[in-house]
Amino acid sequence: MVLTVLGASGTYPRPGGACNGFLIQEGGYSLVIELGNGCLSNLLREVELTAIDAVVVTHMHIDHFGDLYPLYYALRFHPLRPWGLRLILPEGGLELLGCILGREAREYLPIVFREERLQEGVDYEVGGIKLRAFPTRHPVEGYALRVEGDGWALAYSSDTSPTPSIEEAARDADLFICEATLPDSYREEGSHGHMTSRQAGEAARRAGARRLLLTHIWPTFEPEEVLAEAAEAFGGEAEVAREGMRILLGGGGDG
Ligand SMILES: [Zn+2]
Ligand SMILES: [Zn+2]
Repeated sequence: MVLTVLGASGTYPRPGGACNGFLIQEGGYSLVIELGNGCLSNLLREVELTAIDAVVVTHMHIDHFGDLYPLYYALRFHPLRPWGLRLILPEGGLELLGCILGREAREYLPIVFREERLQEGVDYEVGGIKLRAFPTRHPVEGYALRVEGDGWALAYSSDTSPTPSIEEAARDADLFICEATLPDSYREEGSHGHMTSRQAGEAARRAGARRLLLTHIWPTFEPEEVLAEAAEAFGGEAEVAREGMRILLGGGGDG
């Protein structure tokens, strides 16, 4: 399996960056997790529009779904009409997307995207890649993800305050992609539905994750500071996600 980071900034992009997005490729399948603003450009460096098998959006915040709009138009006006792309997102997500579109564009939305509801307790499959959702603590309905394939397991926290369910998602995972929006100095202020560096490290340690990839760091903060604090709390291998970064897991390569 190959994981490619499409976007790693929280809330708004750092210079030259993009908001949240990850591409997972295994066995000829391409699964996109989040498509925040700026991600589509990076995604199309890796995969043809017609070769995307599914997109998962963990919650309806624009830094996680903003580039669904250009994706919609790219698919809709593509000469091959590759319509019916699986779009797995929380209940009401597609309706919310339609709110800023005109009537005609809104009518095509459920034709271009085949909506599936993201919820707890359901097993999703994209080729040989399996997905499960775990509820987060965030101002809107959202889900952390556990993603498994041929000899590997990873977890993605989505946006969340500390909660046991993300540790369940990341239990003994090979890789835990965890949000660390804030440095540790913000811990006392309350994290407004997010995690500090140290909270991310502690969650990864309690989960028994092998490797920690920090993401969603607000561009106003120094990634090196967030990394140092998270790595100390984790006590294992930790790094900061960057656009274009690739991580190989399992033995399967990208198939
Ligand atoms: Zn976010
Ligand atoms: Zn959010």
